[in-house]
Amino acid sequence: MQIKVLGCSGAIAQHARTTSFLVDERILIDAGTGVGDLTVADMLRVEHIFLTHSHLDHVAALPLMIDTVAGGLQRPLVVHALPETIAALRAHIFNGTIWPDFSVIPSPEQPFLRFEPLAVGDVVSVCGHRVEALPAQHTVPAVGYAVDTPAGQWVFTGDTCRNPAFWERINRMPLAMLVIETAFSEREQALALHSQHLCPSLLAGELSWLDRTRHPDLPIGITHTKPAEHALIEQEVAALGLAQRHRLVWLEAGQVFDFN
Ligand SMILES: [Zn+2]
Ligand SMILES: [Zn+2]
Repeated sequence: MQIKVLGCSGAIAQHARTTSFLVDERILIDAGTGVGDLTVADMLRVEHIFLTHSHLDHVAALPLMIDTVAGGLQRPLVVHALPETIAALRAHIFNGTIWPDFSVIPSPEQPFLRFEPLAVGDVVSVCGHRVEALPAQHTVPAVGYAVDTPAGQWVFTGDTCRNPAFWERINRMPLAMLVIETAFSEREQALALHSQHLCPSLLAGELSWLDRTRHPDLPIGITHTKPAEHALIEQEVAALGLAQRHRLVWLEAGQVFDFN
């Protein structure tokens, strides 16, 4: 079982791609600009996409990807998301003005794209994997996800600020890896709180909720840093001593994690 980082950046720049993770070739978690590095054949293998929320950095490649694969699809590409996220995509992207409504093209009966609503706590079984929607605290309705692996759950916070319900849930899981966002540097803490993201001190606060007696050596991947602030965020996380307490991994596009 393999999870590949396609994008883990909070914005775009050369070599910086926005959020997307590929699970065993057939599932995408988010569809940020990292999807654009897949070949056409890779894209055609994707059957299910789980979106954390409607923000552009997490959905930007979805409309373009459907255009790429439409002609080769054997069945609709299934997009799983909160009802509010689906409503936002319908109203603001697949609205016939920004992009065609691929959920009724070429026909409403056999579309290229199918939306499947989910709720926090739902477990969806697809392609031999169980994917659970986890609570997130963001400026729009949002979720995180847990994906089962032979080594335990691979857990992704999605975009979030302080999130006690998330820790309450994941501390009861067998964990293989945690991926948590740290979008802003410390000098932008007010902006982090306003936009419902984390900065290093908020990250430290969140990680203090992790049950380390149950998960003493858990790899913790840091994601969603802004390219212009990445080095500063890394320094600030080091200054807080988090690398001494936790097994931190700074995510990069192209990284592959094997769980067996
Ligand atoms: Zn967001
Ligand atoms: Zn984001």
